[in-house]
Amino acid sequence: QYSCGRWELWRSDSESAHAVAREADRWAQRIHAGLKQEEFRLYYQPQLALDTGKVVGVEALVRWQQSDRLVPPAEFIPAAENNGSIVQLGEWVLDEACRQMAFWQREDMHCPRMAVNVSAHQLRGGIVDTVWRTLARHSLAPSQLEIELTESALLSDPAEAKAIAHELADLGVTLSLDDFGVGYSSFARLRSMPFKTVKIDHQFVSRMTADSYDYDLIRMLIDLAKKKQITTIAEGVEQPEQRELLSSLGCDAWQGYLCAPPLPAERITQFLRQPGVLQ
Ligand code: C2E
Ligand code: MG
Ligand code: MG
Ligand code: MG
Repeated sequence: QYSCGRWELWRSDSESAHAVAREADRWAQRIHAGLKQEEFRLYYQPQLALDTGKVVGVEALVRWQQSDRLVPPAEFIPAAENNGSIVQLGEWVLDEACRQMAFWQREDMHCPRMAVNVSAHQLRGGIVDTVWRTLARHSLAPSQLEIELTESALLSDPAEAKAIAHELADLGVTLSLDDFGVGYSSFARLRSMPFKTVKIDHQFVSRMTADSYDYDLIRMLIDLAKKKQITTIAEGVEQPEQRELLSSLGCDAWQGYLCAPPLPAERITQFLRQPGVLQ
């Protein structure tokens, strides 16, 4: 009886492993089909300098346009990371973002930088070569591209991630540490990797006016970043008081609903065309 019970246990484990694998396969197929049918869209959120108010860059954020709704990345990026299709999706994101930058350049709109989010899998999926070829295809300079990495992207194989990050930095691409403060050892990461920018996570920003711990953490980070010539960008700024406080602390730039949500290509283009928005 006992061994039979163990057998049952083993069988159900293995069946659920199969179910998980099947589910991952299904997701991979759906994502590949979505890419083929051109269902993915990039939205763009402006990033503004706190002192001048000018646009310092835009962040590209992917969405999936399905027949009935616009699906946010939280619903498919984790699946794409699990089944590896993030590499192909990420190549599309990078190409599309660079195509948009090249379009603005032809229109004489000089957006200083395009920021693109990159996952751990992509680092190992030949990212340096992909970045190099994509920049060349659209005649962009490496300094026009910023790659946003989260701490989780660096966890599984820190030594390898570090080597790839240095290759990207040597290429002239800017690296930024996304979601600063939500990981385990963000400060250590900042020390060991060639980041030029750090993004203060919106959780801290949303609490900084009410919670002195969050306020102090942001202040410490900005002070350290200044000493190390690292640029700071605050994410998820929704209230004027947050922007004023960040400005008083010497934060360099901000993004958030207070200025604009992520916008589709035509609308961010209109936004950038307004007089005085770009340098
Ligand atoms: P993230 O890179 O930290 O992006 C910031 C998120 O905050 C975005 O969510 C953005 O829409 C949202 N946000 C912007 N302003 C505000 C605000 O004022 N208040 C609040 N509450 N939120 C704001 P989104 O677009 O849903 O993206 C979620 C995450 O999905 C991103 O976090 C990023 O980690 C991932 N992601 C998005 N696009 C890509 C992509 O192309 N590739 C990869 N690998 N990951 C992506
Ligand atoms: Mg980001
Ligand atoms: Mg973030
Ligand atoms: Mg995030």
